[in-house]
Amino acid sequence: FKIGLRSICISRASLSKSSIRNFSAHIGSKLEGKVALITGAASGIGKETAKKFINNGAKVVIADIQTQLGQETATELGAHACFISCDVSKESDIAHAVDYAVSKYGQLDIMFNNAGIACHTPPTIVDLDLAAFDRVMSINVRGVVAGIKHASRVMIPQGRGSILCTSSITGVLGGLAQHTYSISKSTVIGVMKSAAAELCRYGIRINCISPFAIPTQFVIDEMREYFPGVEDQGLAKMIHDNGVLAGAICEPQDIANAALYLSSDDAKYKHPHWSLAAIKSALITTSTTLDRAERPL
Ligand code: NAD
Repeated sequence: FKIGLRSICISRASLSKSSIRNFSAHIGSKLEGKVALITGAASGIGKETAKKFINNGAKVVIADIQTQLGQETATELGAHACFISCDVSKESDIAHAVDYAVSKYGQLDIMFNNAGIACHTPPTIVDLDLAAFDRVMSINVRGVVAGIKHASRVMIPQGRGSILCTSSITGVLGGLAQHTYSISKSTVIGVMKSAAAELCRYGIRINCISPFAIPTQFVIDEMREYFPGVEDQGLAKMIHDNGVLAGAICEPQDIANAALYLSSDDAKYKHPHWSLAAIKSALITTSTTLDRAERPL
C-alpha cells in the first residue's frame, strides 16, 4: 500500500475507507530528505507547520523559548522531530540551534523564522511604550534577522535553501493592530526584501507569510485584556467573525499549507526578488533612477 513516494507497511484490509482518505490527505513527500528548523514551534502555527513538514518527509528541529512545551511537542510529533531550547532574541541561541540542526541531520534546507510575540501596550502613538517596543522588536524583527543570518551561513555553502518568515496582515495593512506589533511585522517584510536581493545569488529563496488573525495562544491572551470575562471560545469566535471570506475561517493549517508550498520544489522560483528584477528590466530603459535606487547589493 503506497502513499506518495513512501511505502507504508499497513495492509489495506486493516484500514477503513475513511482512514485511507485521512492518510492520503495528510501524508505526502514534498519535503522528502529535507531538514527544517522552525522557531516558535512549540505551539500554534509553528507546531502545525512542523507536523505538516514531518508528514511530508522532513526532519524538523523545533526551537522555542518554552522548554517543557517544546519537548512535549517534539515527543508528540514523533521520531522525526526534536527540540532545542532557543530564545530568538539571543543571537547565540539561534546560532546554536542552526549548528545543532546541521550536526544532527547533516544539512539545513528550510529555516522558518516564525517565533513572535504580541505587544501589551496602549494603542495610541502618543502613549507608545518604547521599552515594550524594543522588547517586541528584539523578538519579532531582530530574531528574524539573526535567523536569516545564521541560516544563510550554512545555506550559502550548500548553494540552496528556503527561508520563511512569519509577518502578518497587520504588517501589510495599517490600523489592524497597535503600532508596535504592526511596525514589527511590516519590518519583517522589509527584512525579507533586503535579504532576498543578496541571497538569490546563492540559490537561496526567502519569502514571508502574512497570516490573518487566528485564535492561537498569544492572540487569545491579548484579547483577554480587551474583553475580560469573555470565554476563550467566545474570543475565538470574535476573531473568526472578523474574517471576510464567507464560509471559511483562518486556521494554523492554512499557514502550514502555505509554508509547505513555499519550502517545497513546487515554489522553486518563488522569491521576492524575481518581481523586482522583472520591474527593473521593464523600466531600465526609461528610468536610471529606479535602477540605482533598487540595485541589489
Ligand atoms: P503562538 O503563541 O501559538 O506561538 C508563538 C510561539 O513563539 C510560542 O510557542 C512561543 O513560546 C514562541 N516564542 C515567543 N517568544 C519567543 C522567543 N523569544 N524565542 C523563541 N520562541 C519564542 O502564536 P502563533 O499565532 O502560532 O504565532 C506564530 C507567529 O505567527 C508569530 O510570529 C505571530 O506574530 C505570527 N502571526 C500570528 C497571527 C495570529 O493571528 N495568530 C497572525 C499573524 C501573524
